[in-house]
Amino acid sequence: MNTPRPDAAAALYDVLIIGGGVVGSTLACALGDGPLSVALVERGTLDGCRPGPEHDLRVSAITPASRNVFAAVGAWDAMTGWRVGPYTDMHVWDGAGGASIHFDCTELGEPELGWIVENRIVQHELLGRAGEFENVTVLESAELARAEINDVGFSVALEDGRLLQTRLLVGADGARSRVRRLAGIDTVGWDYDQHGLVCTVDTEFPHASTAWQRFLSTGPLAFLPLSDGRCSIVWSTTPEAAARLQALDAGAFESELTDAFEAQLGRVGLVSPRVAFPLRLQHARHYIGPRVVLLGDAAHTIHPLAGQGVNLGVMDAACLAECLLDGAARGRAPDSIVTLRRYERWRKGQNMLMQATMDAFKRLFGSELMPLRLARNLGLRLADNAVPVKNALARRAMGLSGDLPASARYASAGIASVRPGRRVRSE
Ligand SMILES: Cc1cc2nc3c(=O)[nH]c(=O)nc-3n(C[C@H](O)[C@H](O)[C@H](O)COP(=O)(O)OP(=O)(O)OC[C@H]3O[C@@H](n4cnc5c(N)ncnc54)[C@H](O)[C@@H]3O)c2cc1C
Repeated sequence: MNTPRPDAAAALYDVLIIGGGVVGSTLACALGDGPLSVALVERGTLDGCRPGPEHDLRVSAITPASRNVFAAVGAWDAMTGWRVGPYTDMHVWDGAGGASIHFDCTELGEPELGWIVENRIVQHELLGRAGEFENVTVLESAELARAEINDVGFSVALEDGRLLQTRLLVGADGARSRVRRLAGIDTVGWDYDQHGLVCTVDTEFPHASTAWQRFLSTGPLAFLPLSDGRCSIVWSTTPEAAARLQALDAGAFESELTDAFEAQLGRVGLVSPRVAFPLRLQHARHYIGPRVVLLGDAAHTIHPLAGQGVNLGVMDAACLAECLLDGAARGRAPDSIVTLRRYERWRKGQNMLMQATMDAFKRLFGSELMPLRLARNLGLRLADNAVPVKNALARRAMGLSGDLPASARYASAGIASVRPGRRVRSE
């Protein structure tokens, strides 16, 4: 990046977020009604992510911590107005050896473990909510083309020729982040040599508001309970097997899926197309650079086996907003290295720990070595019986323990505000 002079005609924002997916939109909302001027640049449109009458294929398991953030910014009620599928139990078992572990929200004193929600619903409500704040400008159908650092911050050119200026450029533009590339930030990581095959199915027996996961040597198979009684499945397997499963006729696919799931919910019926996503572990070497910061998939991608990807990104957004607002209250500029370092220190370690844990799980359960099979079956049985250990694991996965941002601790019912002077839309 060279250092041209700032363009006096271009609008100047304190914070310019590239990417209005779940993570970028959460950040925009969390900065809403604050002292910073914010622009959110999204390639798609609000209408384009409007939920349809049927469940969309892409769903995520949303943790209570993420729900708290969505409630704090005034978007959760609108999401529940569409459809969200609460789950109260989680059942995980080993395909080889049969040991299992069961999580039950009542053991944790919580009304649910989480919610299965379509990505479109979450994005639609957050993007829409972001546009309601006076200090936030949402630019739809807008795509970052170039960004050049200068004395003020960044000069940014959009593909349609519009020019913007910002003091802080935020990359929330997904795993193939252009912001990350423009900032020259490298990543480390590897392909899992797995694809996640996703589709929606009917099951013979009710899903019982339980998230189910069977570990197979080729990868985990998850059945996630939807609000209409159906299940969304994520079948992680080799790219070749995923291609073969996609090519099978519906009947043959249904019987393979029923067998792979040990018919836990009886016969399975396919009710949607099948789509496969390549799975990759990736971590940016740095989350920050001069006047630039990364979050969400732009900073890290993780195996979907524990449904943590988007939740980590939402925590990034809540923490970054807290750092920026705290910095502003102390008179620091948005690109202050003190503020940006605080964010990086806060999130990088936690994200790497979760990434490494999921990677270890994936490897442990993918192994067919007898000693490892015995060890993991023993481990599952021990953990299932050691209730305090099990509950500690569950609370961590639900985002209810650890160093949380204030908005993630916020419980939606009856709490007016997460920080002084900030309006929270009444729920
Ligand atoms: C099969 C599968 C299952 C998963 N299941 C779960 C789950 O159960 N729970 C969970 O927590 N996570 C899950 N994940 C992970 C989750 O989907 C991602 O972590 C999450 O979507 C990342 O959100 P993001 O906003 O960071 O990035 P993205 O969703 O990739 O959003 C990036 C946004 O930036 C925009 N954009 C990109 N480039 C530009 C540009 N140049 N200019 C303007 N806009 C741009 C895009 O249009 C997009 O809207 C799963 C992933 C897979 C593959």
